[in-house]
Amino acid sequence: MRIVDLIEKKREGGAHSREELQTLVGGYVRGEVPDYQVAAWLMTVCWRGMLPEEAATLTQVMAASGSQLDLSPIGRSVADKHSTGGVGDKTSLVVMPLVAACGVPVAKMSGRGLGFTGGTIDKLESFPGIRVDLDASAFVRQLGEVGMVITGQSVDLAPADGKLYALRDVTGTVPSLPLIASSIMSKKLAAGANVVLLDVKTGSGAFMRDRDSARELAQAMVGIGVAAGRRMAAVVSDMSQPLGRAVGNALEVAEALDTLEGHGPPELTEFAVELASIIVELASDDAPTAGAEDPRLAPAQAEQSGAASARGRVAEALRSGAALRAFRRMIEAQGGNPAAFDDRSRLPTARLRRPLLAETGGYVARLDALTIARAGILLGGGRERKGDPIDLSVGIVLLAKVGEQVQPGEPIAVLHANDEQRLAQAEGLLRSGLEIVATPVQPLPIILERLLTPAAPPPARAPLSGKRV
Ligand code: URA
Repeated sequence: MRIVDLIEKKREGGAHSREELQTLVGGYVRGEVPDYQVAAWLMTVCWRGMLPEEAATLTQVMAASGSQLDLSPIGRSVADKHSTGGVGDKTSLVVMPLVAACGVPVAKMSGRGLGFTGGTIDKLESFPGIRVDLDASAFVRQLGEVGMVITGQSVDLAPADGKLYALRDVTGTVPSLPLIASSIMSKKLAAGANVVLLDVKTGSGAFMRDRDSARELAQAMVGIGVAAGRRMAAVVSDMSQPLGRAVGNALEVAEALDTLEGHGPPELTEFAVELASIIVELASDDAPTAGAEDPRLAPAQAEQSGAASARGRVAEALRSGAALRAFRRMIEAQGGNPAAFDDRSRLPTARLRRPLLAETGGYVARLDALTIARAGILLGGGRERKGDPIDLSVGIVLLAKVGEQVQPGEPIAVLHANDEQRLAQAEGLLRSGLEIVATPVQPLPIILERLLTPAAPPPARAPLSGKRV
């Protein structure tokens, strides 16, 4: 099989077989297929798209290009949660303990922040001493013993993705729906969980700026997961303003702890409870719910009662403090100092705090997520390039969100900083991302759409668009 034939086939809109994708991707990973041919092929995929089953096969081939975690020793469903990244997104730090406290093992290989999106691994490093480089055996052992684990991607999952992504990055071929979907899902498949919840964000602080593209990506990824035998669900959620109130690593950890203690921002609490409930329900096939067992219930009612019981369990995990204890157990198991659970001042803390005062009274109409993220980066809390050092203590706490009323002179946000000059610059930028209007504004919902399973794989012939996203 000649690579040029595969490029020409895709150029003419053809669909690849598994064997063809193995030849192309396998050959590339082994160094037998040159960059220039793969670059040409990636560009044809950008324009021509892929069939859903073709993207599913590509993902499986990529997932099989390196080690794949075997979570079978856990002996039951293991859940994973993935966010496409956003601003102030500490959801995993709340959702995972809620899920673990319901008895569903939950495991995540996570990344560091880059550009305007934060990363769970950086946030976790707010606990001094924590190890986020667990190898595969430590990962599985902790999952079995503690029921929850989060580590950096220390295992070489889906090396084909790493190589393809680096090439996409320099050939203008990142924004292709099937390539993004297969890139994300190849790592999820290789990480081994059989229950996966995807949180696809949309808005100025998200990778997917428009809602239609976010929905299409969510559908594509759910289809890929279902084709690989995973139990999948996805939500499309708003990222036009930051999630919750805190933006900045240690500030977000404090907010996650507050939320697990039951006094976090209500909208973040509701969002985390809903995501955790979806996961717990998806994983509940291991132990059928009362509703599902009752033959008198119609399927819709049985489903209803499954969802209601999952939500009840999650709410109880929050109310009783079980989720907070699950989180603490994980931090301790990974060598982190848990002092911040009892005393937030034990988290990295910035030297300077400056309130940003409302110049006029009215209703908050805009809190632009991207601008706020850039202000956070200016303060030193984010990185422009991989490997840049970051300051875990700095960030922004929003005191009002879209739809809330503020009085003239009232603080709308507090900046946490360690450097006067950066603080002044960030303050100006932050102000440019805020808008206050005289007439009432509706608060923004967080979840915009839900794609709940059992999801049928997408219709076989509907192509994943060649549209650039
Ligand atoms: N994130 C990924 O992991 N891959 C992409 O292609 C885009 C975002």
